This record gives sequence, structure tokens and C-alpha cells, in this order.
Amino acid sequence: MKTYLVTGGAGFIGSNFIHYVLKNYQDAFIINLDKLTYAGNLKNLKEVEKKENYRFVKGDITDIPLVQSLFDQYPIDYVVNFAAESHVDRSIESPMEFVKTNIEGTFVLLDMAKKAWLIGEEWASGKKFLQISTDEVYGSLGETGLFTEETPLDPRSPYSASKASADLLVKAYYDTYKMPINITRCSNNYGPYQFPEKLIPLMINNCLNAKDLPVYGDGKNIRDWIYVEDHSSAIDLVLNKGIIGEVYNVGGGNERTNIEIVKTIINTIKELLPKEDSRYNAISQELIKYVADRKGHDRRYAIDSTKLQSQLGWSTSIPFEEGVVHTVKWYLDNSKWLEEITTGEYQVYYKKMYLDK
Ligand code: NAD
Repeated sequence: MKTYLVTGGAGFIGSNFIHYVLKNYQDAFIINLDKLTYAGNLKNLKEVEKKENYRFVKGDITDIPLVQSLFDQYPIDYVVNFAAESHVDRSIESPMEFVKTNIEGTFVLLDMAKKAWLIGEEWASGKKFLQISTDEVYGSLGETGLFTEETPLDPRSPYSASKASADLLVKAYYDTYKMPINITRCSNNYGPYQFPEKLIPLMINNCLNAKDLPVYGDGKNIRDWIYVEDHSSAIDLVLNKGIIGEVYNVGGGNERTNIEIVKTIINTIKELLPKEDSRYNAISQELIKYVADRKGHDRRYAIDSTKLQSQLGWSTSIPFEEGVVHTVKWYLDNSKWLEEITTGEYQVYYKKMYLDK
């Protein structure tokens, strides 16, 4: 029996990870601590909300008394820290929340875990703090090369700088106190429940509403894409088998330019949508609209996951083409989910980011 404190579990990757754990482990108990920002959505967890071995706690990871009370109340074995402000564009507009949640929040979790788990000079056995980080902490690559775990940190946006800062705090708790930690640094995820500000669901949503498809700069920035369930399997492996103190890169091995992604989305929607659907004819490459580039836009990310593969035997199981079909199909089947989160604040955000510029 393992008790997990999953933070940010109502977001995209966190909710997918909770589904993954509850599906694969009968004896897991999960506490999901989430502030429910614009990116947190309890509908992502509808199927599990009544389970005996799942609890939701609404709250902020920077709230010391609250985090401490969770450690007092539950025999927490694993902290899996997904909670973050996660969108680069928002970090460029308003970095403050990124510093608060991503850096201060990680510190609070580390410190409360240390209080609960360090007994005298000894760490209680079977405990681990897993920091969910990103390949963006490594900066930007040229046309060749891959990020390894030894690549120096060189974050270039307020988002990636806040994530790199959090990683360094986690590393410091290992170096200083020998806290049982791991850090995973993953490439771009896609799949069900992703908020439609990120590239793939943004393009799906805009296609379905016959809106312009905004592509930054020349559309040739490259990202390495991984299906979210493959990220969950990597996290699960690192949590249970990762060597204490180590960093593990997680990548899908699918490098694509942004414009390739957008065209793939258009083609996939057209394959899946019945020709009689009223939206069918409006969906075409003519919707693509190149817009002013993101400030400081990193050109290329690509990640070397050899360490995770050779040390822990991890591999991906969902090829990109298959993952994209699953994802588009999920959004088509869950149009209500999408509609509900693309009203109100989302419309204000969208106008500010893409229409007023
Ligand atoms: P997301 O924005 O979808 O979800 C973040 C969740 O954190 C939301 O549910 C939100 O309500 C919650 N949250 C925010 N601030 C909080 C706070 N102060 N206290 C408690 N909860 C708070 O993000 P995501 O895409 O699921 O990413 C999850 C993690 O994975 C992040 O740490 C991110 O840096 C990392 N990551 C994401 C990707 C990706 O491609 N999305 C890739 C690599 C790493």
C-alpha cells in the first residue's frame, strides 16, 4: 500500500497520472492537492471521484499549514509534484504566479516532506519526492544534438527559469539532507484533458470552430512530442525504481515542427469527422495564420532518454500517429468538456493573446 500526495492532479498530466495509478495499482491511495486555477478541472477526474482510495483537497501548495496538515493526517509515501503554472506565454505576460507556485510551492512541499520523513538522522524508508520537470530547463538546441541529463541548465523564459529553480531546490535537498528525491524532465506532452491554450488542443478547438490557426514565426520551431500515458509510465517507473538523487530525461523521440503538427491535426480531424458534419468543409489549411513570434522563442528541443531506457527499462508504447488519432478522437467525443472551459476567462485570454496583438 502506497499513499501518494499528487499535487496539481486536476491538471492535464496530473489527472492522466491519477487515472494511470488507480488503473494499475489496487492498493494505491491518492490525495490530490490542487488549487483549481484556470487549468485545473475536476471533470478530468469524474470517473474516480467516488473511489475509496482517492481524495481531493482544494488548496495551494504554498499554504504551509495546509500542506503540513496533510502530512499529519496521512502516511504519505510519495509526493509527485505536478502543480505548476505551466504555460510559457502566460509566464511572459505575468511571471509573478510562476515564481510563487513553481519555486515557493516546491520549497514548501520539500520542507514539509522533510519534516515528516526525516526522523533524527534517518529518512523513513520507502519515501520519495518526485519533481515533475521539463526539457525546457535546458534551453534551446541548434539543428543537431540532444539534451542529456548532463546538459547545463539554461532556461530562457520565466516559466522554464521557475522550473529550473525548483529543480535546483530539489537537488539541494538531496545534496544537503540526502532527501530521497528524483527529478524527471519530460518533453512536450499531448493527449486527453489538455487545456486548449497548448498547441495541439488549441488547434483542434480552433479547427472545430473554424477559427484561424495561429502559428508563431515561421512555424519551424521543433518540439519532441510524447503521448501523456507514456509520460505516466515513466513517472511510475522512476517513482518505484529510480535511483535516489538521479535526474531522468523522458522524451517521445518524435521531433516535429509546429507547422507539421498543425497540418497533422487538420488532416486527422478531416479523417475522423463525417463529411456530413456541418464543420467539415470549413476545416482546411487556409485557416493557418502566421503570427508574430513568441518573445525569446526556443528554436528546438530534443531529448535523449537513454538513461531511463537502459537503467530502468522504459520505452514508449504509443507511436505519434496513433497518439494523435486517440487525442483528436477524444476531443471530438468530449465536445462538452471543451465547450465548458472555452467560455468566460478563456475568451478574454484568447483575445488578449491572439486577436489584440
Ligand atoms: P496544467 O497547467 O494542465 O496543470 C497544472 C495544475 O496545477 C492545475 O490543475 C492547477 O490548478 C494546479 N496548480 C497550479 N498552481 C497551483 C498551486 N499553487 N497549488 C496547487 N495546485 C496548483 O499543467 P500540465 O501540463 O499538466 O503540467 C504538469 C506538470 O508537468 C508541470 O509541473 C509542468 O511544468 C510539467 N511538464 C509539463 C509538460 C507538458 O507538455 N505539458 C512537459 C514537461 C513537464
